[in-house]
Amino acid sequence: MRNGFDEGSLLLRNARVWRRPGECVSDPQDALLRGGRIAEIGRVAGAGSGVREVDLSGRVTTAGFWNCHVHLTESVWSGRSRAALSAMQAAIDDMMLSRGFVTVVDLGSHPRTTNALARRIETGQLRGPTIITAGIGIRPWRGIPFYTRIIVPWFMRWMLPTPLTGFGARLVVASQLRNGARVVKLFTGAYVTPERVKPMREAVARAAVDQAHRRGVRVFAHPSNREGTAIALGAGVDALAHVPDDTYGTAALLAEAARRGVRTVPTLHMFASTVRTDADYLGPIHAALGDFLRQGGKVLFGTDVGYMAERDTRPEFEAMADSGMGVDHLLGSLTSEPAAFFADQERGAVEVGHHADLTILDTRSQHPTPSDFSRIYATFRQGRMIWPATIE
Ligand SMILES: [Zn+2]
Repeated sequence: MRNGFDEGSLLLRNARVWRRPGECVSDPQDALLRGGRIAEIGRVAGAGSGVREVDLSGRVTTAGFWNCHVHLTESVWSGRSRAALSAMQAAIDDMMLSRGFVTVVDLGSHPRTTNALARRIETGQLRGPTIITAGIGIRPWRGIPFYTRIIVPWFMRWMLPTPLTGFGARLVVASQLRNGARVVKLFTGAYVTPERVKPMREAVARAAVDQAHRRGVRVFAHPSNREGTAIALGAGVDALAHVPDDTYGTAALLAEAARRGVRTVPTLHMFASTVRTDADYLGPIHAALGDFLRQGGKVLFGTDVGYMAERDTRPEFEAMADSGMGVDHLLGSLTSEPAAFFADQERGAVEVGHHADLTILDTRSQHPTPSDFSRIYATFRQGRMIWPATIE
């Protein structure tokens, strides 16, 4: 108890609960959060005096969103002063919490920066999401992507892992996991110039995947083109971090990926935002995602924010809808699919007993539209409202 309030509990009033994809959005009801978990859903008469209440006024409540492709590489993340911390909080709010993300998968950043940020969130110094990080992405030998060369000064490039052999790849993965990585990211195809993709040797990729899988860790690949996709599948990766943007010859490979349960993070808007917006370039990328979906392929939501400067998630939801995803499918990509992918049975749905990770959409409609996923009213993690800082 502090200030007369039971700090471990929170009662959400008048929430239209959308428990999981495929279920209807409910009429307004209550949800009691206690000890970081969802304790009760329904009509909660009185949770006891001293339980703080938040009235959601009929807004739609879903499981906490995941963004399965972010980067924590911008300079804002590495500050240490008091002013730097408040800039960091503003950046977390802008990039993650105000977009509804309660869990993020960082597919490449410096572990020193990211581990420090995660610690500040866990100790309550900052409000933020759960961070699952890949540490530094593993590149092909002599295959540092041109855009990384722009960001990373030459004297720091020795830190980027570019193993030449399978043995080297195993050592790199083991060292990344020791440094806090919980997923592995491989550039099976790296754009060394805007026109040229350098492939990773398949034996190197396979050794990295074996080492990760032996430790129960999932592997994402950046495929870029047909060869990068073929190497990713040959090596046995678990997810493609993007739809290949050079789609020539990838149709059969994406169909095979769908059959084998390899997930795809589309990042469709990243291509429009950072490469080109013309239909000749974007059309085939959207079509490739549509084909993957028609083969039963599973999608994890992700934007590549942090590499892409743009924060607004609306264009990504609209592009995914354009490729054939309905609202239930979109909700799955944000909640149940990533939870299942990471074998997290206590997240991904609004269920009694689950972690109280919740995203509140700023709509009262029982039939949300794709763009409603980009209009966020509040974000909760482990039973605490982490965004906005207060609701009156
Ligand atoms: Zn990325």
